[in-house]
Amino acid sequence: MRNAILRELQAEYDQQQMRNDQENQRRLAEVTGKCPEIAQLMDERQNMIFAGLRGILDGRVQGSDLPQRMDVMNTRISQLLKQNGYAENYLDPVYRCPRCKDTGYVGEPVKDMCECLRGAFYARLYQQVGLGEKARQTFESFDLNVFPDKKVEGQPFTQRQLMEIIREQCQAWAEQYPKAQTSDMLLMGPSGLGKTFLMHAMAKCLLDRGFNVLMMSAYRFLDVARKAYFSGQMTELDSIMEADVLLLDDLGSEPLMENITIVQLFNLINERQTAGKGTVISTNLSESDLKNRYTERIASRLTDRRQCMQVVFMGEDIRRV
Ligand SMILES: [Zn+2]
Repeated sequence: MRNAILRELQAEYDQQQMRNDQENQRRLAEVTGKCPEIAQLMDERQNMIFAGLRGILDGRVQGSDLPQRMDVMNTRISQLLKQNGYAENYLDPVYRCPRCKDTGYVGEPVKDMCECLRGAFYARLYQQVGLGEKARQTFESFDLNVFPDKKVEGQPFTQRQLMEIIREQCQAWAEQYPKAQTSDMLLMGPSGLGKTFLMHAMAKCLLDRGFNVLMMSAYRFLDVARKAYFSGQMTELDSIMEADVLLLDDLGSEPLMENITIVQLFNLINERQTAGKGTVISTNLSESDLKNRYTERIASRLTDRRQCMQVVFMGEDIRRV
């Protein structure tokens, strides 16, 4: 996926450079059409540069006054541009990014990605893995202060204390994958307790570590699975199976389609566990709800502590606090 995005961006940068050249030529034609003296001066400047260079190469010219003569000529061209109603730098090469001159790379001799290309690359990567704007939801920006610092009913800890521990568990998993304690994670608890935010943070962390990550709602996954089942076209389903880490949000919110949903979900979890790939699932359902809805066979996959770390969110819906 990363290579495909880079190829796509490279093609766009090449196109941008072509558009820049066209714009430069258009401006030159426009200006010299309006003020032929500028064209004449530019020709002279060009000849002067060549003559100067030739002189230096022949060893005839020592301590050339070329720079001073160039200055005079440049000043004259700028004046003429202004007199004709143009900005002084109207004939300077145009670039969208002055740092890399729209090549996407900076540095000599070792080339490094320019900020503009890096930014575009990650924006597109986050978009393609289903993060998009949510890429701003990171462990660093996860604010514990939004959680009430009062005891969770029937528990010896406050909601904020609990969230601090959960954040650490999620972060440790994302930072250690594929060497994390378990291959899978199940984030359980009602809506509005920060499950999705932490999933986004995990996805971002894993992406930045170079893993092939895919984030989607369980609803969307089962939709893809159902279409693949009926059409026999497996491409999209394969890419879901192949992601290093798959993050499935909100399992339980999708409509149950007879057996298909259950079979596909089982296959997904089973194949990924067998292949040693990580899956992170969030759900509002409890363990017994999972059993009732998806059968014992699936629930046992998700509740086996050796394979899947369970994290239980508790407390008040922070959207209402
Ligand atoms: Zn740039």
